[in-house]
Amino acid sequence: MPESPYPMIAVEDALEIIRREIKPLPTVALPFAEALDMVLAEDVYADEPMPPFAAASVDGFAVIAADGPGWRRLVGDQTAGYMAGLRVEPGAAARVTTGAPIPPGADAMVMVEQTEEQNGQVNILLPEIRAGDNIRPVGQDIEQGQLVLAKGTLLGPAELGLLGTVGKTEVAVHRRPVVAVMSTGDEIVPPEQTPRPGQIRDANRFTLMSVVRQTGAVPLDMGIVHDKANSLEATIEQGLAQADVLLTSGGVSMGELDLVKPYLARRGTIHFGRVRTKPGKPVTFAVVDGKPCFAMPGFPVSAMVSFEVFVRPALLKMAGHTKIYRPVEPAVLAHSIRHNPDRNEFQRVNLSRQADGRLLAAATGAQGSGRLLSMVGANGLIKLPYGQSDFAAGAVVEAMLLGPVGMAQEHADD
Ligand code: AMP
Ligand code: MG
Repeated sequence: MPESPYPMIAVEDALEIIRREIKPLPTVALPFAEALDMVLAEDVYADEPMPPFAAASVDGFAVIAADGPGWRRLVGDQTAGYMAGLRVEPGAAARVTTGAPIPPGADAMVMVEQTEEQNGQVNILLPEIRAGDNIRPVGQDIEQGQLVLAKGTLLGPAELGLLGTVGKTEVAVHRRPVVAVMSTGDEIVPPEQTPRPGQIRDANRFTLMSVVRQTGAVPLDMGIVHDKANSLEATIEQGLAQADVLLTSGGVSMGELDLVKPYLARRGTIHFGRVRTKPGKPVTFAVVDGKPCFAMPGFPVSAMVSFEVFVRPALLKMAGHTKIYRPVEPAVLAHSIRHNPDRNEFQRVNLSRQADGRLLAAATGAQGSGRLLSMVGANGLIKLPYGQSDFAAGAVVEAMLLGPVGMAQEHADD
């Protein structure tokens, strides 16, 4: 039996190697509205206070609080967006809309619902008015000079709104990694083709480009490459030239046509070429010309699970994220499981929240490495540890959360 030249390492060691080798990408300046889900690479301060002028927070009348209730002479209208040049003297009031500046002299707003108006006069029906009522003072929300977003912040919808507020139209962010994705194998044909005997349609390019995109990175479709040294090497070189990361599937086992690893080894450094994990034992991590290369096994579930466990954290780190791992929580098994104790096995499960708050994990059917249906509907992976083969129903294992978790059905129906 031929022996793989690569030592089999533990999952944790593989992750440690990736953490060590992968560095965040350089930062770029981008129009802020394009930076959703990117990581901010600078501190952002507010040059001006927010609101920048004392503003009405209701529709009504600007008055002097000390005047108390009763009739006032109306001096005019102040709507939002400009300065009307009004002044409120004792005994007077101005009609002001929400968001409009408070005219000088006034120190409170009375809501229109608490007034009546007649012949150019307004009657304040409130028994008591306090200075400052219904006025948003200058700087109430943001002080001038305040740090509004710190370096390292993940830019979500609220953060982009804040960048708009403070007029930060261009921001420094960590670049999105561009990932060259290719499927390898003489038997792989594009989905639009009818496979001839011995051929199968490509699944991996579509799962991998999708998970790359969900991670916030940019997939680059390199197509299907046959198990021929020339074309494989040319496509790998093209990927390395055009992308920050190379992501292949297939061709990393021990077959004579498994040419990916030998080529990566010639061109750069293979940091690991076998991991004690199932699925995904031959998963390979190399660095060529300073660029991370991840070679996934060809079985569709192996490719996806290997991406989830090893590649996703790497892409997140490159994009400047500091939280690069999925949340992990204990989960109770809904049924018994038996597995190979020599490997760290990641099984696809549906996780749901029980009434007692604990997660319940139910396998998504047969767990074969080729059965992509086991990923459909999976919102978690349970990690079955080394050294133990049998887990009874009710046993507690570690679960990685891949998506939203609903309530367990029996309780959701109550
Ligand atoms: P390999 O890792 O190249 O030995 O492939 C392992 C298994 O995965 C074989 O049954 C392949 O036919 C299958 N496979 C490889 N690449 C793909 C792909 N892109 N889409 C679907 N199945 C694949
Ligand atoms: Mg192959």
